[in-house]
Amino acid sequence: MKKIEHIGIAVKDLDVSNQLFTTLFGKPPYKTEEVKTEGVKTSFFKSGPNKIELLEATNSESPIAKFIDKKGEGVHHIAFAVDDIYAAIKRLQKEGFTVLNEIPKKGADNKLVAFLHPKSTNGVLIELCQEIA
Ligand code: ZN
Repeated sequence: MKKIEHIGIAVKDLDVSNQLFTTLFGKPPYKTEEVKTEGVKTSFFKSGPNKIELLEATNSESPIAKFIDKKGEGVHHIAFAVDDIYAAIKRLQKEGFTVLNEIPKKGADNKLVAFLHPKSTNGVLIELCQEIA
């Protein structure tokens, strides 16, 4: 894994949180995007070299809706950039981690993504992501 690519935060109302984080960082999100297959609307902020992703559920079956029901708003996942997501998935499965989707899927911000089940990572949902060339 190369570096933390971004930190994902689950929010109830993206418009409200966009304003809050715009004030916090002193600039608006550089991107907003809906990922229909995941049932989420996202926005991305840059703070220096770091990125924050806000996620709002667009339906009650969305993983974000379920997360907020259980835990409320807050840090949802930490995403790590990898060079080769297929190799990373293979390696981590071999090491005993539970990969939620063995076949990487298209996530927000032009990335292929895969998630590790928090039960195998001390309660932290970890996203692997690789920029789509
Ligand atoms: Zn993410």
